[in-house]
Amino acid sequence: MKQTTFKVPELKNEEIKDYLKDSTERKDVIETYNSMYNENIKIPLYIGNEEIYTEETKNIHPPHDHQKIVGSYSICNSNHVERAINNSLEIKDQWTNTPWEERAAIFLKAAELIAGPYRSRINAATMIGQSKTIFQAEIDAACELVDFLKLNIVYMSEIYKEQPITVGEVSNRLEYRPLEGFVYAITPFNFTAIGGNLCASAALMGNVILWKPSDHQIYSAKIIMDVFNEAGLPKGVINMVTGDPVLVTDIALNNTNLSGIHFTGSTDVFKQLWTKVGSNINLYKDYPRIVGETGGKDFIVSHPTADSRVVSTAIVRGAFEYQGQKCSAASRVYIPKSKSIEIFKNLKEQISSITLGSPIDFRHFMTAVIHKGSFDKIVNYIEHAKNNKESEILIGGDYDDSKGYFVSPTVILTTNPKFTTMQEEIFGPVVTIYVYADENWKETLTLVDQTSIYALTGAFISNDKESVKYALRHLRYSAGNFYINDKPSGAVVGQQPFGGSRASGTNDKAGSKLNLLRWVSPRLIKENFNPPTEYPYPYMD
Ligand code: NAD
Repeated sequence: MKQTTFKVPELKNEEIKDYLKDSTERKDVIETYNSMYNENIKIPLYIGNEEIYTEETKNIHPPHDHQKIVGSYSICNSNHVERAINNSLEIKDQWTNTPWEERAAIFLKAAELIAGPYRSRINAATMIGQSKTIFQAEIDAACELVDFLKLNIVYMSEIYKEQPITVGEVSNRLEYRPLEGFVYAITPFNFTAIGGNLCASAALMGNVILWKPSDHQIYSAKIIMDVFNEAGLPKGVINMVTGDPVLVTDIALNNTNLSGIHFTGSTDVFKQLWTKVGSNINLYKDYPRIVGETGGKDFIVSHPTADSRVVSTAIVRGAFEYQGQKCSAASRVYIPKSKSIEIFKNLKEQISSITLGSPIDFRHFMTAVIHKGSFDKIVNYIEHAKNNKESEILIGGDYDDSKGYFVSPTVILTTNPKFTTMQEEIFGPVVTIYVYADENWKETLTLVDQTSIYALTGAFISNDKESVKYALRHLRYSAGNFYINDKPSGAVVGQQPFGGSRASGTNDKAGSKLNLLRWVSPRLIKENFNPPTEYPYPYMD
C-alpha cells in the first residue's frame, strides 16, 4: 500500500572521471579491459526468466583487432522473437500496475550500479566492442546512460503532475497510461547509452519492450541487461533478442500488439520501418508510435569574424572524436577565404599530433571504425575525393585494415559546395571544407540549408552578434541542435535535448519530457460529484 511520496533525483549530470595516470579509475578500467578481452564471453538471448544460449552464434571481434575473438552472441530464430513478444505481453499487466515510484526506484538503482560497481565493466565493454577511447566510453556508457536513467525519472514525475483543472462539482484527472501493446526498440552501434535508453525510457513509463541491439554493440548491451537484472527489473519487461534484424523486425511489425517503435540508426532503415508499418496499418490495435532519430550531415559555418583557432578546434573535435561515428559529427564545413590559410595551418598542426590505435593505449585520440562495411564505405569516399577534379585531400586520406579498421583523420577540400561528401552521411573521420568569398556569407547560409536532406546538428562560429541572429533565423530548419561558437557534437542529457528533423528523424528529443510523452496514451477521467437528474437546462425556463 502506498503511504508515502517519493523525492525524485536532483537534475544533475553524472561527473565525468578523468582517468589520469595512476588514478584508481584508470587502474580499474585497464584491469577490467584486460580480463574481459580474454574472457571469451557467451551472450544469450534474454526472454523472461530464460537466458537462452542458441546453437547458432556469431563471434565478437574488437574493431581495432579484428582477428581477435572476445566472445560470441546467440542468434535468434522466429520462435524466439514470438516468445519474447508474448512473454513481455504476459507480464505487461503486472508492470503497468507497478506504482511509478517503484519503477523509478529500479531505474535509479540501475543508474547507481552503472555509476559505481559496473562502471569499469560497461566502459571496458564499450572500448572492446565498439572501439571507444576511455574518454568516449566514459561520456557515453557511464555518464550519459546514468543521466538518461536518472533524469528521465524527474521528467516522468513532471509529466504525471500535469493535470487538468478540477472545478465545482467535477473532478478531472489525466492518467498517463502506458501504450496498450509492446514497444520495439532497435538501437545503433555507436552509443551504449542509446541502447540502454531506448528500452529504459519506454519501460520507465510502464511499457514492455522487445529490444534488438546492433550486432556491433552486443557486448555492452549484455552489461546493460546484467545491470537491469541486478537492479530488480522484473524479467520480461525488457526482452533482448539478437540476430537477423530483418527477421526480428518483420515479426515485430507483423504483430497486432505493436504499439511503438523506438529507433535510432540510419535514415534508410528508418524509412523501411515506417513503410512496413504503413502497409500493415490495418493489422494493429493502435496506431503505433514511431520515434526515430536517424542520420546527419552536420555543419560548421565560420563567419569572417570567427577566431580561426576556435574554428579549427571545433572541426578537429567535432569531426574526429570517436572516428566521426557520431550522428552529430561535423562533416561539412564552410570557411571564409580571408581565414582559410590560417585555418588550414591550424588544422594541419592539430591533426598531425593525432595518433590511432587500440583504446587500451590511452595516448590515442582515435581508434578504429566499427566494421569492414563501414571501413570500405569510408575508403570509397576518400578515393572518390582523391580522383575528382573538384576535390583534393588536404590532410590524411590514409587507411589500413590489416589489424583493425583504421582510417586517418581526413580533410577534403572541394570547390563544389554540393560535392558528394558535402551531402552524404559518411559516418567516419572525414570532413569536407568549402571555402566561400567573405562577402557571400549570407548566400552561404542558403547553401548550408539546401545542400543536404538532413537537419540534425550545426554550428555557427562568429564574433558578430548580428550575424548570429541572422544565422539563427535563416537556418531555423537546418538543425534540431544548433550550436553557437561551439562544435556541433557532444550533447549532454538534460542540457541539450537531442534530435533533428527532415531526414534526421522525428525530433522527439531523447532525454527529455518530449520523448517520454511518446510512450504514454493519456486517459482523461472525469467524475461528477452531483450528476444531473433531469435533461432541461435552466435557460429553457
Ligand atoms: P543502422 O541503421 O545500420 O542500424 C541500426 C539498427 O537497425 C541496428 O540494430 C540494426 O541491426 C538494425 N537494422 C539494420 N538493418 C535493418 C533492417 N533492414 N531492418 C530492421 N532493422 C535493421 O545504423 P548503425 O550503423 O548502427 O548506426 C549509425 C547510424 O545511426 C548513422 O546513420 C547515425 O547517424 C545514426 N544515429 C543517429 C542518432 C541520432 O540521435 N539522430 C544517434 C546515433 C546514431
